[in-house]
Order: sequence, then structure tokens, then C-alpha cells
Amino acid sequence: MTKLFSFKDENKTNINWNNCSNTVRSILEGYLAGKEISVQDGIELFSAGPTDEKFICDIANQIRKKKTGDVVSFVVNRNINFTNICYMGCKFCNFSKRIEDKGAEWLTLEQIVERAKEAYSRGATEICVQGGLHPKLSANFYRDILLSVKKRNSRPTYTRIFSV
Ligand code: SF4
Repeated sequence: MTKLFSFKDENKTNINWNNCSNTVRSILEGYLAGKEISVQDGIELFSAGPTDEKFICDIANQIRKKKTGDVVSFVVNRNINFTNICYMGCKFCNFSKRIEDKGAEWLTLEQIVERAKEAYSRGATEICVQGGLHPKLSANFYRDILLSVKKRNSRPTYTRIFSV
């Protein structure tokens, strides 16, 4: 891919805008000058054809490079599903089971904590706890999950809980 500009000449006046549409150029120039991208601008950028796309991608990459360099970071995560029992009934879901279904499971607090401990011992820096909407779980159970996982772990970890 042809570079439109580099770190050394990232000044927008050095960008070779040949073949870029006026609309996309105007949006990108505005952004580089500090203007926020509006919803309408976003729609224009998402609708861009292959030629304009090169400009959008290259500029996005240069901005990314300027902000974070080539450093890549990651978290070691374990996702603990404390129950697959869910009565929501989302049509796209291939995960949930009814309480009477074969394979329906519901982890106890101890089991959840054990899985979290196992994850920490293997270097996890983030724990996600997710589950279906179990009809018989009280609100206290959700609070207790949070307290138990945090209490039994002294290491600084990021705990994300209760997204579905
Ligand atoms: S809430 Fe989640 S687990 Fe329940 S049916 Fe919807 S997608 Fe599946």
C-alpha cells in the first residue's frame, strides 16, 4: 500500500491526496486539524469505496502509530460462565438452557471462586463472570459472586462481572 504520509512528514500538507474524493478528503483533513467527526461524516466514511478506503486506513494507522507506537498489550483473561440457565429466549442464542434441560448447569459460589483462583494461578489479569438470566437466583447471589471473587484474590486484577 502506498504510504500517504509518514511520521517525519505527518503534516497534512504533505499528504498526497491524489484520487481521494473531495468529501472524504474534507472529513479527514478536518479530523487531522482537530475537528470531531460527526455522525454524517461517519456515515460517509463507512460508505467509502476502495480508493477512499486506502486513505482512511492509512491515516487511521498513522494516528494509531503516533498515539501508541508499535507496542502491543494484552490481558490474560478467563471467562467464567456461572450458569447457562436463561429464560430470556434471545433468538440468536445457542447457549442458554431451560432449568430442566440436559446440560443445564449452575455453579456454586465455591466453584466460581475455584475457577477464578485457578485463573489467577495461571497468570490471569482479568476475570469475566457472565451467565444467563436464571429465574431462581436472588439478587444477593450476584452480589456474593462479586464479593467472593474479589475477597479471595489479593492480586490486583480487573474483574468484569455480569455482562451477558
Ligand atoms: S440473555 Fe444471553 S444467555 Fe440469555 S438467551 Fe439472551 S443471549 Fe442467551
